[in-house]
Amino acid sequence: MDENFLLQTGTAQKLYHQHAVKMPIFDYHCHIPPKEIAEDKRFENITQIWLYGDHYKWRAMRANGIDERFCTGDASDWEKFEKWAETVPCTLRNPLYHWTHLELKRFFGIEKLLNPSSAREIWDECNSKLHTADYSVCNIIRKARVHTICTTDDPTDSLEYHRQIKGSGFEVHVFPAWRPDKAMAVEDFQSFNEYVNKLAEVAGITIDSFKSFMEALNRRHEFFHASGCRLSDHGLETIMAGDYTEKEIRDIFKKIRHGNNLSDNEIYKFKSCMLYEFGLMDHSRGWTQQFHLGALRNNSTRLLKELGPDTGLDSIGDFEIARPLSKFLDRLDMQNRLTKTILYNLNPRDNELIATMMGNFQDGSVPGKMQFGSGWWFLDQKDGMEKQMNAMSNLGLLSRFVGMLTDSRSFLSYPRHEYFRRTLCNLIGKDVENGEIPNNPELLGQMVENICFNNAKTYFNFEY
Ligand SMILES: [Zn+2]
Repeated sequence: MDENFLLQTGTAQKLYHQHAVKMPIFDYHCHIPPKEIAEDKRFENITQIWLYGDHYKWRAMRANGIDERFCTGDASDWEKFEKWAETVPCTLRNPLYHWTHLELKRFFGIEKLLNPSSAREIWDECNSKLHTADYSVCNIIRKARVHTICTTDDPTDSLEYHRQIKGSGFEVHVFPAWRPDKAMAVEDFQSFNEYVNKLAEVAGITIDSFKSFMEALNRRHEFFHASGCRLSDHGLETIMAGDYTEKEIRDIFKKIRHGNNLSDNEIYKFKSCMLYEFGLMDHSRGWTQQFHLGALRNNSTRLLKELGPDTGLDSIGDFEIARPLSKFLDRLDMQNRLTKTILYNLNPRDNELIATMMGNFQDGSVPGKMQFGSGWWFLDQKDGMEKQMNAMSNLGLLSRFVGMLTDSRSFLSYPRHEYFRRTLCNLIGKDVENGEIPNNPELLGQMVENICFNNAKTYFNFEY
């Protein structure tokens, strides 16, 4: 993992060191809490910033035979770190091995490998650095040379922390992103109704019908827009695009508001309608819509009861993607109201499917209007990224790709952009040395710089 890590050819090395490295980071989708940026939080120790909330690491530790007490349980922060250090040597060939050492190197200047014998020394060195002002959240973000961050926010969020960040004069742009999952979560009438009541309150509107429900959401959408938001995101098993009538939706909404659970068919119709309506809203304000498709979540009932969601109990699902996705996009496109769209699949079998689907709806209005999203979650390693970029190259235009995002909950995850950029440069470098693409430094250098940063900046069209 020296300076030419992952860069197997001279061309790759040149592209990376002369072009990729200098570009700032445009992190258009992540889950870091805006509150911690607003407060410019400092962490007491490396476990708090590194292991808390990191289900990738927990899964590796569990697989290594480490008791849950040291992952999510009540062990001390040092004990958790010690167990992580014990696990790291066993993560060879897993991206965690690379991420771990890149993060230690880039943020803390630590070149040593993490293992049980180096654990104490690395713990002490990281912690003493974390105690200095240099390692506050804002300074960590500065160190990573981040230009823009988009967080993930519920429509009922007050966005007070985004306002605070803006008011603080922090030079990195932090925008909200609209994630209305809860406005579609009609599986359980009780939690849905609580959500609708909260929405009514923050939107300042009485919700007594589907129409006023949509009006409240639209007001929040407008508020997000005024707060700088330009993109939405949905986490779904697959797209829902069932048929429904306006009357059916009105009745379904009434039924659930009266405290009744819906049938599977009603749930499907309602969600299909919501996705379409959200698509229209995003189009009306020129936003980008993102869909993360294909996660089969919360597989272990036993651990879910103990630990709750987002604790590493999810895997790749095998849902039907193509037909509903086609119907959904076509429905919006027929009305000339299909907005810029990014699709992420979790099952790599869907790579070519997604890449070709996006091609159906490119319409010449915006370069790369329909985007095949970067290798996501279980696929954000070298193999997954290469497969995603190869599918996109074969079936679309890699040159128009908006590139990498962290999708992370940790402030130390920015080296994932470095990892992506090295993989990208390596892919192009290999083609050059194979004689498959011209060795034209200007053309290739520009392409790399665009994918690393410029494409995203142009595509999302934020107001700075
Ligand atoms: Zn995400």
